[in-house]
Amino acid sequence: MTVTLLAPQWAANQRLQRAANNNPPMRQGEPDKAAVKLLQQALIAAGFNMAAGADGAFGQQTANAVIAAEKHFGFTPDNGVAGREVLGALDLAQRGWKPPATGAHWGGQLARTIVPLAQRKIGRAIAALTDVRTMLATGGFDFVTADGVTMTALKTHFKLVPPGGARLPIEAFIATGTIDPLLANFRAVQRTLNNALMLKHSICTLGLDIAAEAPFGGPVLFGPAYSDFKFDPVAVTNIDVTGPNSLAAMMMHEATHVIDNLSGSDATHISEFTPEYETQPAAQARHNPSAYATFAAHMDERADRPRAQRYGLGTGRPL
Ligand SMILES: [Zn+2]
Repeated sequence: MTVTLLAPQWAANQRLQRAANNNPPMRQGEPDKAAVKLLQQALIAAGFNMAAGADGAFGQQTANAVIAAEKHFGFTPDNGVAGREVLGALDLAQRGWKPPATGAHWGGQLARTIVPLAQRKIGRAIAALTDVRTMLATGGFDFVTADGVTMTALKTHFKLVPPGGARLPIEAFIATGTIDPLLANFRAVQRTLNNALMLKHSICTLGLDIAAEAPFGGPVLFGPAYSDFKFDPVAVTNIDVTGPNSLAAMMMHEATHVIDNLSGSDATHISEFTPEYETQPAAQARHNPSAYATFAAHMDERADRPRAQRYGLGTGRPL
């Protein structure tokens, strides 16, 4: 997948489509005057001043308007080069996308306001796992004093069950060897979210309707679909109102991709909203980013939800 521009004014222009994927971006001296003119028209329509009008020449004036647009959309301004970020935002703007003028409402700007909530959930997951770890290290597992919510969550999301009892083939026993990898990953997710450089306000490379994406090693890119307001002009994007718990779930999911290089494989990357989540073996669940996001939400909320109301993103949990 790549970024696909959908504004009627732009959709048919192949140079703009390539520039929207930085392949290559457009800059001063751009030879494709038809594409430059379409860019200039969009900049003018969005309110970015260009005294000479849309003349098809990418000079300093157009570069300045691009810089102004980058600042307006919250991107780090470059030298007025029009690539994925500014073209993506202008494409949405031409389709009526208009984030509220004040406050953080989308992308990495909104993500920064969600970090404390995600960190609270991660902190509760770490605390619960640390309690289990302490119990294992000081005389073994004790069914009587083990926390029931923690036991349920470990079984639901990581397929870990108390040692010595019955277990399914997909399950593994709670032990230092199965708890420590979870603790290590949660601590790494915690560190990732404490690093502002790992949370980038951007346009996702996978498309304008992608809320967030992250390669191993980061950073996490948060795009327009990571949003707290509704945008659905022609039903070609899924930009929708998303509540803080769902935003936090996405954030924890993506941060797991940053720190676990096995988190993206087909066997591990199973959504909590699919039936396959129930039967994913422990060996894969411990790398599943959705398992981390939902376990942390479960430990924060300390209550079981019906299946239609899972802990992450989804229709059962709009807010
Ligand atoms: Zn993912």
